[in-house]
Amino acid sequence: MTPAARAPAPVTALIAALPEELDALLSTLEAARPESLAGRTFWRGTLAGQPVLAVLSGIGKVAAALTTTLLVSHFGAARVLFVGVAGGIGAGVQVGDIVVADALLQHDMDASPLFPRHEVPLTGLSRFPADAGFTDAVQRASIATLQAHQEVAAFVGRTPRVHRGLVLSGDRFVATAAEGTALRERLPDALAVEMEGAAVAQVCHAFGVPLAVVRSISDRADDAAHLDFPAFLRQVAGPLGREIVQRVMQA
Ligand code: SAH
Repeated sequence: MTPAARAPAPVTALIAALPEELDALLSTLEAARPESLAGRTFWRGTLAGQPVLAVLSGIGKVAAALTTTLLVSHFGAARVLFVGVAGGIGAGVQVGDIVVADALLQHDMDASPLFPRHEVPLTGLSRFPADAGFTDAVQRASIATLQAHQEVAAFVGRTPRVHRGLVLSGDRFVATAAEGTALRERLPDALAVEMEGAAVAQVCHAFGVPLAVVRSISDRADDAAHLDFPAFLRQVAGPLGREIVQRVMQA
């Protein structure tokens, strides 16, 4: 078969929530070209020789759902990888750790008593799964990335770990100990809380598109005075996210 007759390689979509995170991803793209739609800039390029699309989700569930819908139905993304930061909820989940989602839940969804709390009405689901094989690859890339970045340990003052499990999403920045504790009590197996992942997961589930979500832990979802967030993005979350994506695309 001639190269021209070969089917085009499937496109991987890379979604980031914050501009600093997207910039880190864009710095690794070759031949990135912007395309505007619905107030968003979608960057088409290649990474490790494979086609990718990179975009900011916007913050919150609606912004993330809209972005994901466009990536899949308009741009034809064949798989979606979300890279961002999150608050640590699980007991052992500390700043500088990485959480890889195996399922995602909207903690602010509540249509009870018509439907069980957290269940997305008429889907029968409260926990939307990430793709197991894709998530395995992201977990391996995360472990290798932390091993290669010993300076993260110096930044956060401990040896960071990779966790895999339930990630919560909702349209709230969780910044009080009371709210973090309430989430932990209501959903004891939750590892992290953020504002987009479960919306992306619901859209990917509807389209049957594989998803992986990886989050660096930037805070403990409490009111403790926490580290310098811009410095964390620049020195930890950005570089780690970029390297995890590179390793996944090279695998
Ligand atoms: N403090 C930042 C804004 C972060 S907005 C600033 O000043 O720029 C929140 C983003 O971080 C969202 O993308 C969300 O997914 C993630 N996030 C990190 N920690 C979170 C927490 N404790 N609660 C909810 N979202 C969190």
